[in-house]
Amino acid sequence: MLRLRPYKDEDAPTILSWCDKEKDFYKWTAGVMGEYPITEKEFTFVKGAMPFTAFDEDGPVGFFTLRKPHNSDDELRIGFVIVSSDKRGKGYGREMLILGQKFAFELYGTKKVSLVVFDSNMPAYCCYKAAGFHEAACEEDDTFKILGEEWKRIVMEIDVNEDNIHNKVKQLSGANMDIDLTSNQSDINWEQTMCPWNKEENTKEHKCAVKNTSICKYFCGIKYLDSVLCSYPYENLDVLKSEDNMDKTGLLEILANK
Ligand code: SF4
Repeated sequence: MLRLRPYKDEDAPTILSWCDKEKDFYKWTAGVMGEYPITEKEFTFVKGAMPFTAFDEDGPVGFFTLRKPHNSDDELRIGFVIVSSDKRGKGYGREMLILGQKFAFELYGTKKVSLVVFDSNMPAYCCYKAAGFHEAACEEDDTFKILGEEWKRIVMEIDVNEDNIHNKVKQLSGANMDIDLTSNQSDINWEQTMCPWNKEENTKEHKCAVKNTSICKYFCGIKYLDSVLCSYPYENLDVLKSEDNMDKTGLLEILANK
């Protein structure tokens, strides 16, 4: 399971080891931290923003920062996105950016999350698309001269109100919540998220499914091992008819691969 925590100075050697090619370094940093290769001291530049380290059971697997591009809390910009070199191409980048969106929208309360990618970095562009970002107008000079080449900046963004599947379908812990709704968290040794519908109505009435059959209009399925995919307060059918244009199989595949 991928998680986020604040970046610590001791993460720097690991993060810097993920980028050992000059061209990749400039795609990652645009040279704003210094010339390749930078030192750990130069990397402390990231502490001027909100730096996050993504980690799983094996340790750090990714890094990014969040900052305010326009001195307003209404927009946060993701920067310096990097994934461990041996974890690339496996969905970690998309999952990390979706966690970043969750932090920005649900905890920080911003209205828009944006980022910038060079047109020379198509793998990153595709990862950002998969995480729900779409291209926006470039408000500043959009061409950089790097290593003798001209690289165009592409600004991408996602709005809090966008009809985005990742904003709508939540992964809740404790797929057996329908039979264990009466358990207090202190009486059980597994993590169990309370049904958001029950929470809203202060009841224990609603259930996801009975014997593999959905009985809730917000139930989108189960993700192995024990998570519920729940679209509350958007009805399941609305989610599936959204402009993401996916059928239920597609939705479940996407969430299962997160
Ligand atoms: S699917 Fe329905 S019953 Fe299950 S957690 Fe979501 S709102 Fe609650």
